[in-house]
Amino acid sequence: VYYVGIDLGGTNIVAGVLDEDYRMIGRAAIKTAMPRPAKEIIADMARAIVQATENAGVFLDNVDSIGIGTPGSVDRETGTVMYAGNLNFSNVRIVDEMRAILHKERIFLENDANAAAAGEYYAGHGRGKRSFMQITLGTGIGGGVISDGRMLIGFNGAGGELGHTVIVENGEQCTCGRKGCFEAYASATALIRQTKAAMMSDPASKMWEIAGGLDRVDGRTPFDAAGSGDPTAREVVKQYLRYVACGITNMINIFQPEVLCIGGGICNQGDNLLLPIKQMVSLENFARNCNRQTDIKISSLGNDAGIIGAALLCKLA
Ligand SMILES: [Zn+2]
Repeated sequence: VYYVGIDLGGTNIVAGVLDEDYRMIGRAAIKTAMPRPAKEIIADMARAIVQATENAGVFLDNVDSIGIGTPGSVDRETGTVMYAGNLNFSNVRIVDEMRAILHKERIFLENDANAAAAGEYYAGHGRGKRSFMQITLGTGIGGGVISDGRMLIGFNGAGGELGHTVIVENGEQCTCGRKGCFEAYASATALIRQTKAAMMSDPASKMWEIAGGLDRVDGRTPFDAAGSGDPTAREVVKQYLRYVACGITNMINIFQPEVLCIGGGICNQGDNLLLPIKQMVSLENFARNCNRQTDIKISSLGNDAGIIGAALLCKLA
């Protein structure tokens, strides 16, 4: 049997086909091309699925199930995207519409951050573990918590919003309306903001040269400059990693997962990111004296986590 997953994003619709060993054997991508009506986007999702199965050399009849990872909030029972701002989706019955086009019964829907966590849980570092969580440091902070094979989603499906837990009371304004959220300090967006502020206060910083201007700063800028010895960049990176470690320590204290994976573009920093975080968490987490410690790792699936996880949503209890 085969599994098909769709990662629906504001920029691309990507479909992938997995074999029984959860290896991706075919994929296809179509531009989301916003703004467009939901109906057109759903039709293109179905097209991407058909293309991906063709690229994999698989018949749609041999596909066990299809999973969809979407931004925004979802109702899994009715297969409805309740709200997704970047897609202009409001109460879109995406699963029913896909069923009508593809004539497949088993179609599952999940929030994209939870889907990525499911991917890493079944096909990455979470494989064979009982409890697992993933935090994605991207434009925002997404995440998912899986305990004994079950996704923790809360009574109304809106749980697991790890990024919107406050780490600085009355701190930076967050997109969710609160101030001081983990996301407002430890997302890639937050790192870029912190980097720009530091550059403004230090016209001699190497970050100016490395980035090539304030509007060209990205998540790599402070890490690259810190690596070349720039003291202001070092301070930016150090403080940023403290924020990341603070949020992760909170998560570990609450959930005590066997493995916690960090995903997102910042992970390209590898050990420059991972080692200091591990060090800080090992000093601060409540269970630091226990024999067994949460293993913190960098996500092994990269950008494919969302597609792989969507394809394996059928496995979730
Ligand atoms: Zn927030």
